[in-house]
Amino acid sequence: MLERALQRRLTARREQSRYRQRRVLESAQDSRIEIDGKNMLQFCSNDYLGLANHPKLIDAMTIAAKNFGVGSGASHLVSGHSVLHHRLEERLAEITGRDRALLFSTGYMANLGAVAALIGRGDHVIEDRLNHASLLDAGLLSGARFQRFQHNDLDDLQRRLRKLPEEGNRLIVVDSVFSMDGDAAPLVELAAIAQQHNAWLMADDAHGFGVLGEHGGGSAEHFGLDQQQLPVLMGTLGKAIGSYGAFIAGSETLIESLIQFARPYIYTTAIPPAIAAATLASLEVVQEESWRRSHLQGLIQRFRTGAAELGLPLMTSPTAIQPLLVGDDAQAMAISRALEAQGILISAIRPPTVPDGTARLRITLSAAHSDANVDQLLSTLAAVWPGELSR
Ligand SMILES: *Cc1c(COP(=O)(O)O)cnc(C)c1O
Repeated sequence: MLERALQRRLTARREQSRYRQRRVLESAQDSRIEIDGKNMLQFCSNDYLGLANHPKLIDAMTIAAKNFGVGSGASHLVSGHSVLHHRLEERLAEITGRDRALLFSTGYMANLGAVAALIGRGDHVIEDRLNHASLLDAGLLSGARFQRFQHNDLDDLQRRLRKLPEEGNRLIVVDSVFSMDGDAAPLVELAAIAQQHNAWLMADDAHGFGVLGEHGGGSAEHFGLDQQQLPVLMGTLGKAIGSYGAFIAGSETLIESLIQFARPYIYTTAIPPAIAAATLASLEVVQEESWRRSHLQGLIQRFRTGAAELGLPLMTSPTAIQPLLVGDDAQAMAISRALEAQGILISAIRPPTVPDGTARLRITLSAAHSDANVDQLLSTLAAVWPGELSR
């Protein structure tokens, strides 16, 4: 019975061109990877600064593993909170300009933990409709009244805030850089609106931390928002930082509250201390090798200029996430396959990850890419893109 019910759902998925399949990676993350037995130039990792395979991170992790072993052995509140985790939290607080930071095992858990710890039944949570799945799940899990506003539409947000009853706390939650679109949330305006409507603001900086801001401090640094204006700041460590894990940064009171009430923090094993050591090393590289951010900016400009000349369907993203909008699921898959045949790996992102009718190729650029890599991408896109291009 279970088998038959599941088979029906799988068949429906396949017929919709929405079936998801994994590929097997046989090398480190880099611009070129060995995957499913083929050597490919990839434009789909979130390793925006090319740090996932950096020798300084590898050395730090190796040394820490020799001293601290592999497993952390317990949760942070039992006996798993090592000096390396502690130092990393202090460093993250410094970089983000917050009182404190708290490490979580993943970004997904940080979002579930923070949202559900801050609000509950009788409260209100309002999210951008293009927020990451983990934030949407967090809103639902919290038990608060849950609403979504139109993407980056401040008028829609304010209309909804004005209609809320007096009772209950209010939390506004956004991605600071939207993961499938690459555009940014208007955080300065959102902070003002939150203050005006007596709401708390939370931003998920998974795609900003390490990349945005003069020192890589992320969206808070880029927009100059302190912890009064943006009280709940979430960042991840598995993307631009090139390691693993996530954090929430904010006031002393916020962090103490999360330690008491965030269940995905309390009831899980701490990440391996060697990962924390690698992350600390990465944060140093992020500061020291600022050329990685400027090189990435150069690649983004190069790609956008070239794609615009070709008449490719660019979106309005200023970041390393440069999606090309296709629309139809099957067509997005066909383009992805045609690129693959030419040795370029870019995944087709389809619903339910993105809204119906907005399937796209999610191209991500990295400081690990060269100008020549971007030129090869552009000429291959020109060769395989269906229909009329301007050239
Ligand atoms: C990747 C991502 C997460 C989840 O972070 P993990 O550490 O991979 O669990 C959360 N929010 C956004 C916007 C993301 O892109």
